[in-house]
Amino acid sequence: MNIVLMGLPGAGKGTQADRITEAVHIPHISTGDMFRLAVKEGTPLGLEAKSYMDEGQLVPDRVTIGIVRERLGKDDCAEGFMLDGFPRTVPQAEALDEILKEMGRSLDHVIYIEVAEEELLKRLTGRRICRDCGATYHVVFNPPKTPGVCDRCSGELYQREDDTEETVAKRLAVNMEKTQMLVDYYKKQGNLRPIDGQQPIEHVTETILGHLKGAAR
Ligand SMILES: [Zn+2]
Repeated sequence: MNIVLMGLPGAGKGTQADRITEAVHIPHISTGDMFRLAVKEGTPLGLEAKSYMDEGQLVPDRVTIGIVRERLGKDDCAEGFMLDGFPRTVPQAEALDEILKEMGRSLDHVIYIEVAEEELLKRLTGRRICRDCGATYHVVFNPPKTPGVCDRCSGELYQREDDTEETVAKRLAVNMEKTQMLVDYYKKQGNLRPIDGQQPIEHVTETILGHLKGAAR
């Protein structure tokens, strides 16, 4: 079962990918893990990716796509895989189609976890961190007993610059545009499956698993 999992930041993609891959026994391949593995193994592409990352630069598509090709060729992907964080753009999606074609395979499912922008903002801006011990909280999902005060050490809780509404809204806007283009790409291919990501975590998992099983051939 070859799956791409899509969703905007805050949609719960990582959590769902872990839960699903555990249930269907295929590897969860996140972009970050894939890069780390290639760097650790010291492959030529891994080393090239590292040189870009060390300089704080974006890894070019040619390198990223090469690393994806190597990763999908590994034994643990023989029965399928779940990609999380790749593809991010239409050219990357086209490259993925090409890689799979070379392997005599194709994508079975593209799952898109949909969450309204307002809800994403709430999730992404709710994080609070303790100035003294670094403990993290969330004003909605994991609130401290007393607002603004750390349960562990009574330190003051603050919001990181990256988590303010303005910064988050900007980051989301950039992501939404790219994601929409990918959604359109996969819609045209006919294998896009939108999933309501605003249900409780367990329900989202069940819905996705139900779809994968129902559509299994
Ligand atoms: Zn603390």
